[in-house]
Amino acid sequence: MAYRAPVADIAFALKHGAGLNRTLAKGGEFTADDVDAVLEEAGKFANDVLAPLNQVGDKFGTPFKDGKITMPPGWKEAYTGWYRAGWNAVAGPTQWGGQGLPHAMNAACIEMWNSGSMAFGIGPVLTMGAAEALAAYGTDELKQKYLAKLVSGEWMGTMQLTEPQAGSDVGALRTKAVRQPDGTYRITGQKIFITYGEHDLTDNIIHFVLARLPDAPPGNKGISLFLVPKFLLNADGTPGERNDARAHSIEHKMGIHASPTCTMVYGDNGGAVGYLVGEENRGLACMFTMMNLARLAVGLQGVGVAERATQQAIEYAKDRKQGRAIGFAGQGSSPIVDFPDVKRMLMTMRALTRAARAICYATAGAIDGSHGKSDEAKASNERAALLTPVAKAFSTDIGIEVASLGIQVHGGMGFIEETGAAQHLRDARIAAIYEGTNGIQSLDLVSRKVSMNGGAVVRAYLDELRQTVKAVQAKNDPAFGTTGAKLSDAVESLDRATTWLLSKLENEPQAALAGATPYLRLFSNAAGGCMLADEALVALRLGDGDPATRVAIARFFAENIAVQASGLEKSVTEGADSVNNATL
Ligand SMILES: Cc1cc2nc3c(=O)[nH]c(=O)nc-3n(C[C@H](O)[C@H](O)[C@H](O)COP(=O)(O)OP(=O)(O)OC[C@H]3O[C@@H](n4cnc5c(N)ncnc54)[C@H](O)[C@@H]3O)c2cc1C
Repeated sequence: MAYRAPVADIAFALKHGAGLNRTLAKGGEFTADDVDAVLEEAGKFANDVLAPLNQVGDKFGTPFKDGKITMPPGWKEAYTGWYRAGWNAVAGPTQWGGQGLPHAMNAACIEMWNSGSMAFGIGPVLTMGAAEALAAYGTDELKQKYLAKLVSGEWMGTMQLTEPQAGSDVGALRTKAVRQPDGTYRITGQKIFITYGEHDLTDNIIHFVLARLPDAPPGNKGISLFLVPKFLLNADGTPGERNDARAHSIEHKMGIHASPTCTMVYGDNGGAVGYLVGEENRGLACMFTMMNLARLAVGLQGVGVAERATQQAIEYAKDRKQGRAIGFAGQGSSPIVDFPDVKRMLMTMRALTRAARAICYATAGAIDGSHGKSDEAKASNERAALLTPVAKAFSTDIGIEVASLGIQVHGGMGFIEETGAAQHLRDARIAAIYEGTNGIQSLDLVSRKVSMNGGAVVRAYLDELRQTVKAVQAKNDPAFGTTGAKLSDAVESLDRATTWLLSKLENEPQAALAGATPYLRLFSNAAGGCMLADEALVALRLGDGDPATRVAIARFFAENIAVQASGLEKSVTEGADSVNNATL
């Protein structure tokens, strides 16, 4: 089924929900018209070039032979066209050839690439992250040699943390780096599950590898980051001699078949040449520069796949006829879209997708606002830190839920591969696992983010949510139904659960951590519900952005999804004992 990028919705969510209009109002050459033009072009590329490759990639996969990977038919042309059109460089630094546009703009584009194809979309996420880390921590020499090509996407990047014994526990990694007299390092070891570790899309691949020096302290404090090119560079900067780094094999996976997932081997011939990025033993901090953006981008994968699954399900439900719905006056059978249970599924898909989009774009907007040293920038930085785990985990969880509902709407046809609905679910599943599992995101939210400044950051956010609740109530518009009351209940549930967590974190951390996942969902329900209501209020005020639909979606979310908040609150505050005393 064709995907049509919802450009108008995205533009509205970006400008009003994510505050892009505020960023634009600060000046600069980029205008609101430019936003529309860029989104329109990105949407066309996603619709016309990437979306048709999705099933091709799923079927063909990435065959591996003699150390080489062949990408599916049409992928190299698509990638080349994509990077040459400047799409990898949207938010890249201008001094290295990037366009320097807001991250929020790039976030919208990333969503559309991933609606087109998740297996395509994940590759550039890693390249962009690699460029970001190199720009922040690389030496001038490394930047001169590699940065412009990573920013443009002419060379792709990888991010290599995982080893067999070191998954969520990155500090357990063993890959070795040994100092050389010429200032380089020799890297030996093995990495597993490396996305785009090998492929034929670009003529060099720049690996960013975490490794440990022989005299490094144990754990996270002894990890360093190295740039390890697949091909060492000639004096003129072109790819030359092959480095001692290769893909040993690829994984056979449940989904994203066109994203090659490689086991990488370093040091068959004495060690791969690696260049230190940042300081020795400070590699994890550098990697986190990449990971925060990558986490948001993986959240956007969830939004992208959810949007595509929703479009497909709505189209199918309007076409498929079965039985007669109550009140149906037409001839023959009703389209299944007329049945209340199907409507509920479709509205759930739509509302969850819109809420996840709003949370992801708000996170990107906060990242855009976080540059500089002003109080405003500091607050924005804290907001981005608070929202990042929520954006990643909620959006990827709902990506799975929405894709699963999409199958349900299709009935038996959903289970049949040719429909394409099953691929969305198979693809969506990984996003809750990589870039830090969603369990790890909820631990991050509870143990590090909620406690920021003694809870002041989350409390300020709660106050903002209350402002939205008040605004909905003050509007007193019957179209909102009980939105104001339902959102108020959700926000107060979040407030009580937050207070409870803050009281437990120091002396009973085990109790707090037992409720981390329901807390993250509670947070998302309250925040997502308020963001949708906010968008609806703005649309009503402006008479733009399809106000009636926005109000209907906000109302559906508040009355059918946000209402789960009180149950989630109880799970956080009353469920910990039965978790921690469980015998398994
Ligand atoms: C297709 C694919 C692509 C990938 N791409 C890359 C890549 O490009 N680069 C890279 O470096 N890695 C990559 N990975 C690895 C991925 O990031 C890891 O799989 C992920 O971080 C989880 O690690 P693990 O698989 O070892 O699971 P584990 O760490 O063993 O986790 C298993 C379960 O235990 C939970 N758990 C673990 N520790 C804790 C804890 N402290 N508290 C609570 N719960 C915990 C987890 O949440 C999870 O539910 C990829 C993986 C896949 C499958």
